[in-house]
Amino acid sequence: PLVLGIETSCDETGIGIVRGRMLLSNTIASSMDEHARYGGVVPEVAARAHLEELQPSIEAALAEAQVGLADLDAVAVTSGPGLAGALMVGVGAAKALAVSLGKPLYAVNHLVGHIAADILDAESGPLEYPTVALLVSGGHTSLLLVRDLTTDVELLGETMDDAAGEAFDKVARLLGLPYPGGPQIDRAAASGDPAAIRFPRGLSRASDMAEHRYDFSFSGLKTAVARWIEQREAAGEEMPVADVAASFREAVVDVLVTKALDACARYDVPRLLLGGGVIANRRLRDVATERAAAAGVTVRIPDLKLCTDNGAMIAALAAELIASGRGPSTLAFGADSTLPVTEIQVAAA
Ligand code: ATP
Ligand code: MG
Ligand code: FE
Repeated sequence: PLVLGIETSCDETGIGIVRGRMLLSNTIASSMDEHARYGGVVPEVAARAHLEELQPSIEAALAEAQVGLADLDAVAVTSGPGLAGALMVGVGAAKALAVSLGKPLYAVNHLVGHIAADILDAESGPLEYPTVALLVSGGHTSLLLVRDLTTDVELLGETMDDAAGEAFDKVARLLGLPYPGGPQIDRAAASGDPAAIRFPRGLSRASDMAEHRYDFSFSGLKTAVARWIEQREAAGEEMPVADVAASFREAVVDVLVTKALDACARYDVPRLLLGGGVIANRRLRDVATERAAAAGVTVRIPDLKLCTDNGAMIAALAAELIASGRGPSTLAFGADSTLPVTEIQVAAA
C-alpha cells in the first residue's frame, strides 16, 4: 500500500511516503534552531513550527515520491507518546487529510514507529523476531522486547528521570557547550580520555537488573558531573572539557549497552536493534557493535535519517499493519502524550 505518514511528536515535522516496505520520500523539517537558546525543546514553539511546516512538507514529500494525494491508500499519524500540543497539530492534520480524501487513517505509536524504521533500511534485510530494541533520543530511553512489530511489543525498561539525549544536552550546558549537546559532547570527547574520571553508572549493577527490570536513570550521573565541575572550578583549576566529555559519554554508553545486552542474554534473543537520535553517537555504535559481537548478538542500526524522528517510520508501521490485515483507526482518538508502547495502533475499529 502507498502510505503517507505524519510525525509531529517533538521538534521534527516529518512527512514520509512508503510503498509497502519501500521508502519513497522522507521530508524532515526541524525547529531545533528555535529551541537552541532555551537549551531544550519548548512545546509551544514546536507546535507552532509544525503548523507552519506541515503543508509545505506534505507537498515536498509528494513531489519527491512523485505521487499525488489521490494515489494514497492510507494516511498514518503519530498519536503519542510525545509533546501534547505538537502531537495535536499532526493528529488534526491527518484527520483532515484522511476525511477530505476519503482514505483510511492509521493512528500509531511513535516508539513502535522507531522500530518500524528498520524495515525501510533496504540494506539490512527483513527485521527478524524476536529482537531487543534500544531507543535513545532527547525524549526517550526505552528498552523493548519485540516479538512482532504489529502485535507484541513489551516494555522492558525506560528512564526514571532524564532521557539519554537530555542528559547529553544538560551536561553540555554545564560545560558551556551549545544545544543540542549530543554532537558537541561527541566532538569534545574525541580528544579526551574516557577513563579519566569514573562517573556513576546508574541502575546497572546485576542486582538492579535481577528482577527483569531494565529501567534507566541519568540524573545521578548529571549531578555527579555537575559536582565534579563545581569542585574543579572552586579549586581554580583549568577545566579538562575533553576528559569530562569523554568520561561522561563513556558512562552513558556503558549503561545503555550493558543493559541492552543483559536483556538479550536474559530473554535469549540474539538480535539488538538501535534507534533514536542518540544513535548518531559514534562511541555508542562502536561499543554496542563490539560488545554485541563478543556476546553473539547481531546489531542492526537503521540509516541515521531513519533513526531520528521522521514520518517514513510512521508510514512504514501503518503499511505493516495493513499488510497484516488490520483495519484503520476511527476518528475517536487524540494526542496521547503518555501512550504506552503496548498500544501499537490506537482507536482500531
Ligand atoms: P524524540 O525523543 O521524540 O525521539 P527528540 O527530537 O528529542 O525526539 P531526536 O531528534 O531523535 O530526539 O534526537 C535528538 C537528541 O539526540 C538530542 O538530545 C541530541 O543531543 C542527541 N544527539 C544527537 N547527536 C548525538 C550524538 N552524536 N551523541 C549523543 N547524543 C546525540
Ligand atoms: Mg528532535
Ligand atoms: Fe522519537
